[in-house]
Amino acid sequence: MAEDSNKICKDIESHHVHLCTLTEEGRKEMVACLSGRAEYKCGNCGAKANFATNLCDPVQLPEIDWMGDGADNINLEGHCR
Ligand SMILES: [Zn+2]
Ligand SMILES: [Zn+2]
Repeated sequence: MAEDSNKICKDIESHHVHLCTLTEEGRKEMVACLSGRAEYKCGNCGAKANFATNLCDPVQLPEIDWMGDGADNINLEGHCR
């Protein structure tokens, strides 16, 4: 069997709460909440998340890397429920 290069999820049972899915569904508030202080990156699709549990293939980011492209998310913290 050839590998499915698009959807390699290591935690398929939780895929509905993965940033990949939430982004696809256009749930921007959720995505902003879950990626505002991203410490992990999805090795599958490149999405960033605060918690490894929100990624298909979590890779820990080397340092606090969210300042650059995530700056807009910082003031969304209050939206988290
Ligand atoms: Zn992903
Ligand atoms: Zn997944």
